[in-house]
Amino acid sequence: MKTKILQVHPEMFQNEELREACSILQSDGLVAFPTETVYGLGANALHREAATKIYEAKGRPSDNPLIIHIANRESIYELASEVPAKAEALADAFWPGPLTMILPKAERVPASTTGGLDTVAIRMPSHPVALELIRQSGVYVAAPSANVSGRPSPTRADHVIEDLSGRIDMIIDGGEVGIGLESTIVDLTTEIPLVLRPGYITMDMLRDVVGEIMLDPAVDSRERKPDIVAKAPGMKYRHYAPKGQLIIIEGEIQRVISCIHGLVQEKQQNGYRVAVIATEETKGAYPADIVYSIGSRKSEGSIAAGLYDILREMDHLGAEYIFAESFEDDSLGQAIMNRMLKAAGYHLLKA
Ligand code: AMP
Ligand code: MG
Repeated sequence: MKTKILQVHPEMFQNEELREACSILQSDGLVAFPTETVYGLGANALHREAATKIYEAKGRPSDNPLIIHIANRESIYELASEVPAKAEALADAFWPGPLTMILPKAERVPASTTGGLDTVAIRMPSHPVALELIRQSGVYVAAPSANVSGRPSPTRADHVIEDLSGRIDMIIDGGEVGIGLESTIVDLTTEIPLVLRPGYITMDMLRDVVGEIMLDPAVDSRERKPDIVAKAPGMKYRHYAPKGQLIIIEGEIQRVISCIHGLVQEKQQNGYRVAVIATEETKGAYPADIVYSIGSRKSEGSIAAGLYDILREMDHLGAEYIFAESFEDDSLGQAIMNRMLKAAGYHLLKA
């Protein structure tokens, strides 16, 4: 299959530019498109055959359900059989935006979209291209991240091209995304809302709107806990991973730097290709030819936005060992560390 690439300006595009993309979605094809979090791979969520194509193109396990994207808040009542007051309040506060809600599913949502679960994941994205694509096509768009399963999520169209060119009908190139980490997922089918995946909408932001919330114990961890099953099926898979072994080093920053120096030397002496993931503040402390800055410690947003690109860069370099500094586990840092720990297979050392 030849994949069409459509270039659009992320804000100043004409609605007509999306006409072909809409007709692909209407005829059960696959279109990758930018959202404010990462690029999504979209198909008609209510057509079993269309949703099935997503799993094939990504090589995604069929028990890993898809998030349905909507452009109009009222659509939630078409897709969920029950919408509790807390869900309404969260939609008021954060939609359109990077928040996905889990609700009991309506009859019309096929099991192929929900991985056989009787709940459904719904989000209304804020990216103008995503919103217009959904609105104009009139399709409820099931869209996981537009990467091959297991690889880092795409934050630019060339990441999508690298993974899915030849396997999908169209890629809409709307430039670099703003946030760079997947949406926060919150389950509203329990009395106390449960965060299944941390993201840009932090625990504190959710608490301000609905009061008490909890974090899925399988996610609230610096170690792999094989005996606890994550409630979001996707969180149990190795994910976001570069091909080399990523190792995160935590502790007081000067100790981290000297610990990484020792590890780099040891691996280089054994003939391995090594890279270091540091920050703007610390990059000068490592040998220039192997250090990569992920962003500034003064802005967690810059680190979130740079993470997946740098993990892909590690593959382009052919890095066999990658040593990364760690980050604070608070607010957005919680989402950053969650993705980094998964990418590292929970390989964490204390300096
Ligand atoms: P992705 O779109 O690649 O970010 O993956 C979607 C995430 O949402 C995966 O981790 C899924 O397991 C999770 N998800 C989707 N639907 C549900 C659901 N009904 N219940 C729990 N988790 C879900
Ligand atoms: Mg994904």
